[in-house]
Amino acid sequence: MEYRRMGKTGLQLSVLSYGSWVTFHKQIDESIADELMGIAYDNGVNFFDNAEVYALGQSEKLMGRVLKRKSWDRTSYTVSSKVFFGWRGKENKPNQTGLSRKHIVEACHEALERLQVDYLDIFFCHRPDRNVPIEEVVWTMNLLIQQGKILYWGTSEWTGVEIMEAHRVAHEYKLIGPSVEQPQYNLLERDKVESDYAMIYKTVGLGTTIWSPLASGLLSGKYNDGIPEGSRFALEGFDWLKDRFIVEDKLDKVRQLTAFAKELDTPVSTLSIAWAIQNPNVTTAILGATKKEQLTENLKALDVLPKLTPEVLQRIEDIMQTKPKE
Ligand code: NDP
Repeated sequence: MEYRRMGKTGLQLSVLSYGSWVTFHKQIDESIADELMGIAYDNGVNFFDNAEVYALGQSEKLMGRVLKRKSWDRTSYTVSSKVFFGWRGKENKPNQTGLSRKHIVEACHEALERLQVDYLDIFFCHRPDRNVPIEEVVWTMNLLIQQGKILYWGTSEWTGVEIMEAHRVAHEYKLIGPSVEQPQYNLLERDKVESDYAMIYKTVGLGTTIWSPLASGLLSGKYNDGIPEGSRFALEGFDWLKDRFIVEDKLDKVRQLTAFAKELDTPVSTLSIAWAIQNPNVTTAILGATKKEQLTENLKALDVLPKLTPEVLQRIEDIMQTKPKE
């Protein structure tokens, strides 16, 4: 495993990590989650990602039970949660979502309880909240750090301007600003990581824990000839996601990429994940997996890195045509 510093912080994350969105509680039960987290940890993964909204709190509870049973040294791994969407779904009342001081503090306490840990290594603002002054958010995150309840705080899917606004406030009041962002990044979605944040890596510094490196599985090639039973796009309630990805133009590119991966003698999934982590501004790619075979395959992405020569990267660009315009 390779470990990278999270932006300008001292924290080192494994370049491949493991997250629980969609999968924990909905698709996999506790014994499979236990097995998959075990495989990840044994392969050097030291970051596990979660959020209050995943399976409406059940994902954190499940991960918490696994962490408790594993009894891994708490200093050997990092775990995150995210605040914004709340966990009561349609029952959410005012103040049970968003980034008010009240909800951030309460969501933190609830995440600690569900995950059965004393502190979160990283606490993300799952989305920007344009109804809350940024001063309130930065002061609250700083408070949680001072209280030892979280160690680092970050953002998810914020714009570069919003991140810099948080830094302006942090600088003005001598508070700790956000040090990491969690954006989507894969061969089909590149703008934020490659364009919007370009200056921030160099100035204040920004780690990235990128999500959906396989575009929810599309870049594994599993949808090239239809939607397999039991796969994410076949799940009830995920039509919105399927409709976003199962479109002819994207499928056509993935089919071409799959053929190219074959030439390189590697599965297209590992090629796609390797492509994401060859970007030095990516601290870690959060893997998702419902099966042991998927996780073991994806963890081999590091072995594919040496195959990514300038010529290979150019072939990938020619196929995908997704590079953001300068
Ligand atoms: P991916 O894009 O890698 O998709 C993972 C899914 O693809 C798996 O659950 C599995 O789904 C399928 N898959 C994975 N590997 C293979 C393989 N080798 N062969 C075939 N199918 C495969 O990542 P996720 O979308 O799951 O995102 C990863 C993590 O990122 C999440 O768990 C979460 O922690 C974080 N995230 C954060 C978000 C945010 O807003 N901050 C948003 C989304 C995710 P299946 O078997 O069901 O088809």
